[in-house]
Amino acid sequence: MENQEIVITGGTGRAFPIKSGKYLIVTDVEGKQVADFIAVNLNNNEEYLSTAHTRSMNGRVTVQKGDMLYSNFRHALLEIVEDTVGVHDTLYPCCDPMRYKLDFGVDGHQNCRENFTHALKEYGIDYWRVPDPFNIFQNSPLNPDGTFGPSTEPKSKAGDYVVFRALTDLIIGISACPQDMTPLNGFHITDIKANIVDHL
Ligand SMILES: [Zn+2]
Repeated sequence: MENQEIVITGGTGRAFPIKSGKYLIVTDVEGKQVADFIAVNLNNNEEYLSTAHTRSMNGRVTVQKGDMLYSNFRHALLEIVEDTVGVHDTLYPCCDPMRYKLDFGVDGHQNCRENFTHALKEYGIDYWRVPDPFNIFQNSPLNPDGTFGPSTEPKSKAGDYVVFRALTDLIIGISACPQDMTPLNGFHITDIKANIVDHL
């Protein structure tokens, strides 16, 4: 038994391994906090969770309980086994330095892409290789005219969570998104908690 708890402080990122067969519970501690989520094959960092392949394989732009999350090689890496919210995003990239500079005129804002770059350095993944994230709890509506967004406050409340089952050995990266200039995180950046457990 190696149950493990990892706290991702609001606005920062962490990366950690998980073994095949274990469960990962990602919890919004205080509510209305987006968790950018990426996964890379622990034994081959050329294989990663691909939101494009996940959309294609599931035939849907959203994901829900029972869905698999697929890699760029079309292998199922994770299964969503529980979800107390049901509103997430697979379309947006990480926030990055240019997002804050172009849209808000702000230099040096904390951002998910650099959070991942720092967290994944020990696994040999550079800035340009950070995969597009699965944005847990992100509420970015799809509109009938084909547009999407603008993003609004997450539906998640304190204690809401998503449970994944790892289907292979993975490196998981999570960034508690530091976007505080739009309603994306309810204008209040808070912690995300990750728990790795053997059994539910
Ligand atoms: Zn972000």
